[in-house]
Amino acid sequence: MLDIKVTRTQTPKAKPDQTKLGFGTYYTDHMFVMDYTEGQGWHSPRIEPYHPISLDPAAMVFHYAQESFEGMKAYRTADGRVLLFRPEKNAARLQSTHKRLCIPEIPVEDFVQAVRALVHEDKDWVPSEPDTSLYLRPFTIATEAHLGVKPSNTYQFIIIASPSGAYYEEGMSPVKIYVEDEYVRATPGGTGFIKCGGNYAASLAGQVKAHELGYSQVLWLDGVERKYVEEVGSMNCFFKIDGVIRTAPCVGTVLPGITRMSCIELLRKWGYEVDCETRLPIADVMAAAKNGTLEEVFGTGTAAVISPVGELRYEGEIATVNDFQTGPVTQRLYDTLTGIQWGKIPDEMGWTQ
Ligand code: PMP
Repeated sequence: MLDIKVTRTQTPKAKPDQTKLGFGTYYTDHMFVMDYTEGQGWHSPRIEPYHPISLDPAAMVFHYAQESFEGMKAYRTADGRVLLFRPEKNAARLQSTHKRLCIPEIPVEDFVQAVRALVHEDKDWVPSEPDTSLYLRPFTIATEAHLGVKPSNTYQFIIIASPSGAYYEEGMSPVKIYVEDEYVRATPGGTGFIKCGGNYAASLAGQVKAHELGYSQVLWLDGVERKYVEEVGSMNCFFKIDGVIRTAPCVGTVLPGITRMSCIELLRKWGYEVDCETRLPIADVMAAAKNGTLEEVFGTGTAAVISPVGELRYEGEIATVNDFQTGPVTQRLYDTLTGIQWGKIPDEMGWTQ
């Protein structure tokens, strides 16, 4: 159990208009901070007024990107409670990120306690308009001032919170995806399976290119043969082909999404055949679109929950999915997950707290 010291703000901020929140624009009154010092371990857990941080310009995070992060949400129910969705899964994923980046791990129960404590402190910031949420961003940075390449001997773990608007302001609608065959996101032995800032910096060029071509996201192919589908933007990606639901295996290049995991569990419970072990060639997806067996395509992630895909462009060829309509499995997953997250339907899976 962490002994969290709480220092409350003396100057609470005005809350933003809940109908104009957008994403990542506003921050709550408080932040959680915990330090790591070699020999001492993680220490001094505290909640403080939200404030800028001051670091030595030689802090290792700026030079060698020894940094980790997570993304999760707190949801307000109609009867005024606040729910977290599987926070222990974010804690476990952060541990695997830390392991890969030589950052000391944070115990799962300490991570969950810290998240709960910050949400409790800023509970009035969890918005109540339909489909809004409090986005939570836990992250760890290497703070030692040192220019040699080696693991830092000091770190700071911080959680900030940002009230966020409805992802689909005009209702869920399918998006157009550009299948990227030049840039890659991840390679075997690399960092594709963890959440570190460098992965996202390296993904920007592909994203900018897709936007310039009129597509909303990139579908990433594997980094070795550029043959197998992996992820779509910062979401996992599912394909329903001839009745079978397929998604890329998490073999080291694909982020194990918590929404992905939850979709697989729900789909299997509903009796669908799910294949998340076999890699899926993009050529098979394009062929399925041609012969009429590509039934549904959707992305999954904390931000959008479920994002239907209406079109894929690969090497100049266009595949239209389900006449650009949201498919029934896509819709059912969206309704079930958002129903559980916002407490609109009973949480039979025991996923919320
Ligand atoms: N892939 C990538 C690259 C991501 O950044 C995310 C968002 N965390 C996901 C997949 C989806 O993960 P989750 O369902 O845990 O949000």
